[in-house]
Amino acid sequence: MPASPLRRVSEMDIAVIGSGYVGLVTGVGLASLGHRVRCVERDSDRVARINRGETPIHEAGLGDLLATTLADGSFVATTDLADAVSDAEVTMLAVGTPSDDGRIDLRDVLAACHQVGQALPRGRRGLVAVKSTVVPGTTDGPVRQALEEGSGLIAGEGFGLAVNPEFLTEGRAVADFMQPDRIVIGADDDTSMAVMRQMYAPFPSTPVVAVTMRNAEMIKYASNAMLATAISFSNELANLAEAIGGIDMLDVMAGLHASRYLTADAGSNDGPATVELASFFLAGCGFGGSCLPKDVSALIAAGRDVGERMPLLTAVLEVNRERADRIVQILSSELGELRGRRIGVLGLAFKPDTSDIRESPAFPLIRRLLGEGALVTAHDPIVTVSALTAEGVDGAEFNADLRDLIGQVDAAVLVTSWPDYLELPGMLNAMERAPLLVDGRRVVAPESVPSYRGIGLA
Ligand code: NAD
Repeated sequence: MPASPLRRVSEMDIAVIGSGYVGLVTGVGLASLGHRVRCVERDSDRVARINRGETPIHEAGLGDLLATTLADGSFVATTDLADAVSDAEVTMLAVGTPSDDGRIDLRDVLAACHQVGQALPRGRRGLVAVKSTVVPGTTDGPVRQALEEGSGLIAGEGFGLAVNPEFLTEGRAVADFMQPDRIVIGADDDTSMAVMRQMYAPFPSTPVVAVTMRNAEMIKYASNAMLATAISFSNELANLAEAIGGIDMLDVMAGLHASRYLTADAGSNDGPATVELASFFLAGCGFGGSCLPKDVSALIAAGRDVGERMPLLTAVLEVNRERADRIVQILSSELGELRGRRIGVLGLAFKPDTSDIRESPAFPLIRRLLGEGALVTAHDPIVTVSALTAEGVDGAEFNADLRDLIGQVDAAVLVTSWPDYLELPGMLNAMERAPLLVDGRRVVAPESVPSYRGIGLA
């Protein structure tokens, strides 16, 4: 664990509903701060695994933190929602809000709210905080209604209500929890705000953005929409750079990114801070994961519901959808007809250091390549062959041995920037006839391999 600036506080009893990526990391994280946490999960196998100290998701540091908090009794997983909620001062809702034709599907959230409502404590004021990503107006609308119906109590009187959006990045979720850049709390009454501040008191130096519930809901969407826009912006410019030629988008974006207006240094006269190029300004295979595509679609759908066109965000998704076509174009320009050609797809996780394959750009690419008649073999250091079945991809092979795979393909496309792929130059240079490497993430130096094409470099 990183050296901790944390202050241990008087502990609170906390229930977290849903033990997926967000719920489990939040629950274990809050327990490690000194709170007593029960993570509720409807999947009893998952509960048993968590209580045995097995993490159902791949996240650096999560196993150690889980072991410590299980051992000192500050954390436990359970299927008993009523028991956890009735004892809790704060109940965090961290169930999924999947996309349903663009809109968020609130079924799990509202079902959980009914259950939570029925279990809310009487005679003292419990608080429900929505951590799931929900469109502005949801917490004060259907969530509030479901909780009030379930409990027979009035929000703001019999129980508190708050919004506490989550900003963790999969792959570094524990580090993000332990060193938050901001804590956003939305509450429409002072007591709820005070309880939430108390829960986060162990982070005395982290800025708390204290706003209304609607503003908190909107901050989460605004953040993801901005990141998605930056990615599509970089990708659209990369398309142009490739067509013009003689341009390297890595240099271009490093130059753009050095602006003081894009750093915390905005407005200072000391020149821009030296910053590492944020991945959102890197052209590549496009964005994926369980959040960015879903959240941008949800904002567009929310706009439709209130008569607002969202042309910019619509274009952000369109540019992203075209990324697989661009990779196929690059392959065709190098190999000609793709029918019968053997193509390796390196990386199935939507980003490195996670086992999450939701909306991974690898799958649209594999489907496009299969559609062209290519023979596709996928690789990933963590994700297994079952991912192909889970995504309903028929016809692609899987090979867990990277060296073996690249020995058998005409071209390999690097889709996920796993550190393992930094070994590719060594492997490719040792081969008699090395395949083409299409670097979809610009992590390999062009001159370090025999045959190279990179996104945004022509
Ligand atoms: P997830 O699907 O991994 O986990 C949700 C869990 O909740 C599942 O295990 C499910 O079985 C459980 N669940 C659902 N209803 C339940 C109930 N009534 N009682 C007990 N358990 C129940 O989802 P996630 O990725 O953790 O995302 C949760 C929310 O957080 C979503 O709204 C998402 O948009 C948001 N979010 C996710 C991330 C991320 O990186 N994954 C980041 C920020 C915000």
